[in-house]
Amino acid sequence: MRAIENIIIVGSGCAGLTAAIYCARASLAPLVIEGSQPGGQLTTTSEIENFPGFVGGINGFELMDNMRKQAGHFGARFLSDSAISADFSGDVKKIICGSSTFEAWAVIVATGAAPRMMNVPGEREFFGGRGVSVCATCDAPFFRKKIVAVIGGGDSACEEASFLAKFCEHVFVIHRRNELRASKIMADRILNNPKISVLWNSVLHEIFGDEKVRGIKIKNVSDGAISEIACNGVFLAIGHVPNTAPFKSALAMDEFGYIMGGGQSLVETAIGGVFAAGDCADKKFRQAITAAAMGCMAAISAERFLSDRV
Ligand code: NAP
Repeated sequence: MRAIENIIIVGSGCAGLTAAIYCARASLAPLVIEGSQPGGQLTTTSEIENFPGFVGGINGFELMDNMRKQAGHFGARFLSDSAISADFSGDVKKIICGSSTFEAWAVIVATGAAPRMMNVPGEREFFGGRGVSVCATCDAPFFRKKIVAVIGGGDSACEEASFLAKFCEHVFVIHRRNELRASKIMADRILNNPKISVLWNSVLHEIFGDEKVRGIKIKNVSDGAISEIACNGVFLAIGHVPNTAPFKSALAMDEFGYIMGGGQSLVETAIGGVFAAGDCADKKFRQAITAAAMGCMAAISAERFLSDRV
């Protein structure tokens, strides 16, 4: 019989690893269940220029590798497995991974979110440093005076397009309908910006290039006509999917699947001893630094929960 862990952290992105550093330094010897993408979303980006403390930027993989080593140095343990379900009904919380069940007095869920992809030719090939991105805040400065396309018509697409327009020569927004889903204020911002054009009733059909992106093909949904646009970058902004499926029956979620709070702080769920941090619980900011901050808050809250129990 496996011993009951002090704390299990599910997920090993910025939120999970920051929580692991704090829990490990508090001598809780956390068990981190790393998931299918150890290091999380940042391992798929190239240079990160907005994480405080790195004047010349830092490679995403390196940043996450450093965090993992830092957590390990203080006694965090790592398990290369993925949670498939959870049972938080009793004092002892259960995380089920395939045929093994792990038990703990406290759990931090930090499973992140995945950007929704279009699954068109070229998308995977040019992703991460070669022209296809899912984060304007991270990558816009690499497209100074260049032409880019943003895919989507929601608040994210408008926000990305407005931000990119500050750097780029021109921004095309490709939207599949003839009206934006975005809130009026966000929509007006792009419709009134001379550096942004919206191409209506259009879907991304293909991304092409050589070493880097050189252009896209878009398909008009009304008549099926395919046309080409020369551009250097493609920003996908068609929403995110939180990685919360394993917790569907265990935790309250909003209509999009983001874990909802319910406790007294940002990271507390309605279940005592269960905390949620990072993109699985935050659809608004979704930044490395905000995920790290939530991981820190969750770890401190978990530590207090555990010490109150003794
Ligand atoms: P969203 O509201 O779900 O919008 C996704 C957009 O992508 C929609 O325009 C949708 O088209 C399009 N889309 C989805 N799948 C597609 C596909 N396969 N092919 C082509 N287009 C596709 O997602 P979001 O913009 O990421 O926003 C998510 C939530 O976060 C929203 O509640 C939003 O208000 C919030 N948010 C808030 C802010 C802010 O307040 N500053 C910023 C960003 C996001 P249709 O319109 O045709 O469905």
